[in-house]
Amino acid sequence: MYRNFPMISRVVYGRGCFDQLDDILTDRRRPGSDSMVFVVDDVFEGSDLAARVPVRDSDVLLWADVDVEPKTSYVDEMTDLARAAAGDEPAGVIGIGGGSVMDLAKAVSLMLTNPGSSADYQGWDLIRNPAIYHVGIPTLSGTGAEVSRTAVLTGPEKKLGLNSDHTVFDQVVLDPDLIADAPDRQRFYTGMDCYIHCVESLEGTYLNAFSEAYGSKALELCREVFLGERTPESDEKLMMASFFGGMSIAYSQVGVAHAASYGLSYVLGLKHGEGNCVAFNHLEEFYPEGVAEFHRMAEFAGVDIPTDVTRGLSDPDMERMMDVSLGMGPLWENALGPDWRDRMTRERLRALYERM
Ligand code: NAD
Ligand code: ZN
Repeated sequence: MYRNFPMISRVVYGRGCFDQLDDILTDRRRPGSDSMVFVVDDVFEGSDLAARVPVRDSDVLLWADVDVEPKTSYVDEMTDLARAAAGDEPAGVIGIGGGSVMDLAKAVSLMLTNPGSSADYQGWDLIRNPAIYHVGIPTLSGTGAEVSRTAVLTGPEKKLGLNSDHTVFDQVVLDPDLIADAPDRQRFYTGMDCYIHCVESLEGTYLNAFSEAYGSKALELCREVFLGERTPESDEKLMMASFFGGMSIAYSQVGVAHAASYGLSYVLGLKHGEGNCVAFNHLEEFYPEGVAEFHRMAEFAGVDIPTDVTRGLSDPDMERMMDVSLGMGPLWENALGPDWRDRMTRERLRALYERM
């Protein structure tokens, strides 16, 4: 069966287009359901951007703390706050931030219409009811969360997304100005998420013309951004690279770095972008050219990738890390083929982790 996946209904792109948000939302406000729920990264509290968020009297603005990546418990808390302030059926949920905040906004929009805890829906196509209208506005580029059909959450038992057709944003607002002031190190880690998406997609066994078309363009843009001088166009290119990288993996899959990174993140709390870099740094045997180029990009950005992160890890923790990683079957299959279980034994994975 071929994937029949949904795409974002509407996209607005361009410097300063954030100021069109009020008009865009006005069209969605209805009598009896006119409240918007803004979920905004708390890094922007007191900033110029915060002052430009078009909050009306009937709306609610929730500041999101993403010092740790979104947990199911945090989504449930935010959904309760949204419901208490804006009723059962607000007109929309708008996420303004990096991948974490966009995922939070997606998850809240789903949980407003689906009963229970968000932990109940970690998996594939478990969501039954359509979400509240939801809008994604990236302030960091690289994850592709703006286009994807998942909202990645850490739950009591697993780190797994709410993967469903209803998860996809109804609208995204791509304003390159919003990513211009992100700290260099964060910009690098999140940008490398995109670079790694491209390499894993293009080198994977699931590759097809659809994914190749998007992935090769995104890769080319990443090279211009991370191996060239920074100019105002760099933000525009990075924003499009993230979008195209996300489109590429929508019809293929990620690979070894992501499979390893999920384990690092679950057991050691490493964030997605950083965890991918920690893993990818040691994956020459799978992606020789990609890893060599990644090393040049890190050097160009002046970023030292952390090493020895698994040193001193207890045996049960190492086992758990391997369990989480090996649970990512489709990622391994994309990377290594249908016989991946024979090729990625626990011994081999342990040796890989011990190198990180
Ligand atoms: P992030 O959203 O976790 O943010 C990282 C840090 O940067 C935070 O401290 C945040 O406050 C800060 N920040 C955000 N924008 C800023 C700006 N413009 N200026 C200054 N600081 C800013 O980072 P990310 O790398 O964009 O997202 C990672 C998250 O995305 C993880 O939770 C991961 O699981 C998720 N993810 C989701 C998908 C998906 O398809 N849904 C794909 C990949 C990753
Ligand atoms: Zn990723």
